[in-house]
Amino acid sequence: MSFASDVRGELARTPMEDACCARSELTAALLCGGGIAWRGRERYAVTFTASEAPTVRRYFAMLKRFYGIIGQIRALSGDTLNNQTRYQLAVPEEEALELLHRLELLDEGGLFGLRALPVDETIRNNCCKRAFVRAAFTMCGAISHPDRDYHIEIAAPSEALAGFIALQLNSFDIEARVSSRKSKYVVYLKRAEDISDMLSLLGASKAMMAFENVRVKKEVSNRVNRQLNCDNSNINRSMNAAEAQIRDIRYIDSELGLEKLPRTLRDMAYTRANNPEMPLAELGELMDPPLGKSGVNARLRRIAAIAEKLRCGDEVKL
Ligand SMILES: [Zn+2]
Repeated sequence: MSFASDVRGELARTPMEDACCARSELTAALLCGGGIAWRGRERYAVTFTASEAPTVRRYFAMLKRFYGIIGQIRALSGDTLNNQTRYQLAVPEEEALELLHRLELLDEGGLFGLRALPVDETIRNNCCKRAFVRAAFTMCGAISHPDRDYHIEIAAPSEALAGFIALQLNSFDIEARVSSRKSKYVVYLKRAEDISDMLSLLGASKAMMAFENVRVKKEVSNRVNRQLNCDNSNINRSMNAAEAQIRDIRYIDSELGLEKLPRTLRDMAYTRANNPEMPLAELGELMDPPLGKSGVNARLRRIAAIAEKLRCGDEVKL
């Protein structure tokens, strides 16, 4: 099961208490799902087709409870493209016109006598706006698993409908945008907060929690990684070898006192501390007796090892 089908499954089980919302949800399902076909003068075929059985069972229950219509459910065998079974709820032909009338989707001036958008009354209340977007998502929506990407979209069949859906989301302070893709107009959200808000707005609270869990985990690990990268790059950037040596010498001085070092190392430490920029070969010439570059290097490494032991709390043998 994909995350998207989990979400659709949860939406299909959200409670349906109010007639106003049922009307809005059925209207959106028909407009977004392309479920109204004109069959000639005042004759229409009205169907709800979805990829999940619980979705059509929900609309079946709504039609029965709020409109007294007993629809017919059947499984459509998979098409050749993806071989996926789909489910269809058909409204009896003699009741189709009456249903469209009660949903106020008929319009003498419209294409095939139909409205392209619902009347204002359909989405008057916030509960009905929510219901409208819920069905729009159920019928033509998609959501990525948050592990992969933050993306939720509704691919509406017309530009007007896409704009209408975006408007409903915006009215809840959810930032929705519209772009066109092939023959569809896609309403989409990209910001994680908006996706999370939309899931809870639609009533998919389990999916919202799952989404939030992934999001928190991702954000924590991103923060940790950023911190690590930052520490590493700071060290690499700011600390060349000479700076590291001087840092070690100061540390030994504060923790142990440079006086405690054997004379050869103590002289080396003072010489380096007094000449922070000087190349190793020149440092060697200042020593008494003079020292080659590799000899200087060896002593600085012993100093570094002592500092490291002090930092780790290990015993330092001098
Ligand atoms: Zn309502």
